[in-house]
Amino acid sequence: MKILIAVKRVIDPNVKVRIKSDQSGVETTNVKMAMNPFDEIALEEAVRLKEAGTATEIVAVSAGPQQAQETLRTALAVGADRGVHIVAEVELEPLIVAKLLSAIAERESPDLFILGKQAIDDDSSQTGQMLAALLGWPQGTFAYKVAIENGTATVTREIDGGLETVALKMPAVITTDLRLNEPRYASLPNIMKAKKKPIETFKPEDLGVDVAPHLATLKVEEPTGRKAGVIVENAAELVEKLRNEAKVI
Ligand code: AMP
Repeated sequence: MKILIAVKRVIDPNVKVRIKSDQSGVETTNVKMAMNPFDEIALEEAVRLKEAGTATEIVAVSAGPQQAQETLRTALAVGADRGVHIVAEVELEPLIVAKLLSAIAERESPDLFILGKQAIDDDSSQTGQMLAALLGWPQGTFAYKVAIENGTATVTREIDGGLETVALKMPAVITTDLRLNEPRYASLPNIMKAKKKPIETFKPEDLGVDVAPHLATLKVEEPTGRKAGVIVENAAELVEKLRNEAKVI
């Protein structure tokens, strides 16, 4: 069984994001970048399936600038066998990423394509769903648990107020939720070994995909800061403030 995983290079989740002075976007120059956390979970799930003898090959795919190769090297160090880099220096919208990933899926014919449920930079949560639609494959989104048996992926999904279990005939698309697993770190020897693993590169035009955007970002703003609170003496004062200052009761 072959698994493709999608890994996006994003601002490290531990970094405080700064807005560019012209409000055109967030500052990424000299900012620490990392693999999108939900993609680490996708990678971990694929590696566990390989360790269990269910999967035989893991291919990590990333679309983005030259430095996205670092993200692919991390995936190779954690356990992916090969990388595919679609080199694009422009910002890619989810539909365009879905088209690029779909073109790679057609070349690679995997049994599963695992993505994160959302990229923490654009928070779109669209790519996996659109990829499944473009390929005409079933999808199990927001996966909490995955089990593979006889050509069927059984995916338990996190939904509002509970869990839902769906059976997908493979090939299928899965997107990962937070509680699916706890990703491991790459060991030093595996980081060294990963340097020798192959990464194939494509340009979007090699895959017949036009990366011209359909959206323009008008403005990015910081959330308004919270005002300092006050400590009230007693319940009567609280009620008075809620009634006359906050005007919520
Ligand atoms: P989004 O729809 O942008 O929230 O992204 C959902 C998931 O799609 C991410 O967690 C990744 O697995 C995948 N993805 C999005 N953008 C890229 C990209 N440029 N390269 C590789 N995978 C991506």
